[in-house]
Amino acid sequence: MQVSDLFPKDGHVQRLYCDNCNGYLDLAYTDFIKFVSEIYMEVIGLPILKCTSRTEEFLPDRSRFAIIELHRRAMENGSNTISTTRKKTIEIFDYCNVSFDYDSDDYYYLPGLERSFDKGFLTPVFFNSRVLYKYDSVPGYRLQFASTTYGSIVTEDDSMISLGINRNGHVVMWLGDIEKLPENEQHYLKSENIQSDHSIGSEFYDGQIECKFTDPTVEGQALAARTALIESANDRFGALISHLDSEVVEIALGLKAPLVDTEKERKAIADNLNRVFVEALSDSILKEVIQKLGVSVPNSTRNLKRLQLILTTLLNDDSAAAALMNPLFVLYDLRVAYSHLLSDEKKNEIIKSVTDRLELPENADIFSIHNEICTRLKSSLIDMKSAVERGS
Ligand SMILES: [Zn+2]
Repeated sequence: MQVSDLFPKDGHVQRLYCDNCNGYLDLAYTDFIKFVSEIYMEVIGLPILKCTSRTEEFLPDRSRFAIIELHRRAMENGSNTISTTRKKTIEIFDYCNVSFDYDSDDYYYLPGLERSFDKGFLTPVFFNSRVLYKYDSVPGYRLQFASTTYGSIVTEDDSMISLGINRNGHVVMWLGDIEKLPENEQHYLKSENIQSDHSIGSEFYDGQIECKFTDPTVEGQALAARTALIESANDRFGALISHLDSEVVEIALGLKAPLVDTEKERKAIADNLNRVFVEALSDSILKEVIQKLGVSVPNSTRNLKRLQLILTTLLNDDSAAAALMNPLFVLYDLRVAYSHLLSDEKKNEIIKSVTDRLELPENADIFSIHNEICTRLKSSLIDMKSAVERGS
C-alpha cells in the first residue's frame, strides 16, 4: 500500500458503522504488517475497528496518523524497515473518586467519544447486566427503557443516567455521568463493574453520540410503553404495579423478534413476553391500587383480572377495559398453549383462539404472531397510561 492510502479520503470520517454492511464496529487490536511505500512496517498491537458481523477492519484516525508518523520517521532516518510494539497504557481520567475499571483506549479509539473539552467524560464503563436489578426493584429508583438497548436509571433525587446494552448483553454508562451519582451509589456500581469488552454499538450510542434515533423494534416499543404506564401509575398511586427481578431484567433486555419458526422458538417467545408483560405485574400492588380506588377486591382474582378491574373503574366502562386487556390475555393464552402438556387438540384450540383474537389466519407463523402481539401490547399499554392519567 502507499502512504497516501493512509490519509482519510476526502470528506470521509471514520464512524462506528461499517462502510460495507453498516453494522457496528468494535475496538480490537491487530498486528499491522505491511509494506507501505517501500518501507516494511510491523506494528504489534495496533488499535483497529472491527466489524461485528464480518471480518472487515478499519483504521481509527489515531492509528492512521500513528502509522503515517512512523513512516515519516523511517523515511527521515533513511531506514527501510520499522518494527514496533505499541505500549498499551491506561490513562486515568479526572472523574469519580471510586476507581472504576475502564480502558482509555475506548475513549481515544472508538469514534465520536474524544472531545476537546471534558476529557474522558465519554469513556464507556461496563457492567454486568444484573447491575440493573436494583434499579427495577428498590423503591426510589426506576429503570426506564426507551428500547431494548437504550435505557436510563432515575435515582431518588430525580437525576437520570442513560445507559446502553451492548451486543454482549453488558451495560454501558459514561464515566462522566457516573460521577454525578452519590458516592455510595458509585460503590454499588463498582461491585458489578467489569473489564471493557470494547463494544459500544447500541441505540444508546446512536442516540447519545450520533443524535440518531432509529425506529425502535416493535418489542422495544412495547417495553417503552410498559415503562411509561408504570411511571404514570406510580405518579398517581405511589406504587410500582410491575417490577422485574434480575432474571427478568435480562429477559426484557434480550427481547427479540423470532429468528426461526420452530416449536422451541414459539415457546421461548411466548414465555419471555409473558414473563415481562404479565407475570411481572405485582398482585399485591394491584390490590392496593384497587383499594385506593375504593373498590373491593375479590380474593380469587390474580394479576390480569386485577388490572382489568382497575381499568374498568378508571374508565367506568367494562367493554373498553376488556378491549385494553385483550393483548395481555392473548399473550397469557399463547404461553399456556406452548408450555403445558396439552393434547394436540386442546393446544390447537387455544392457538386458534389466539390467532382469531389477533385477526390472523389459524396457521399464522410465529413472526406474524409476535409482531401482532407486540404491536397490540404497545397500543394497549399506551391507552392504559392515558386511562391512569385521565380516568376518574
Ligand atoms: Zn461489516
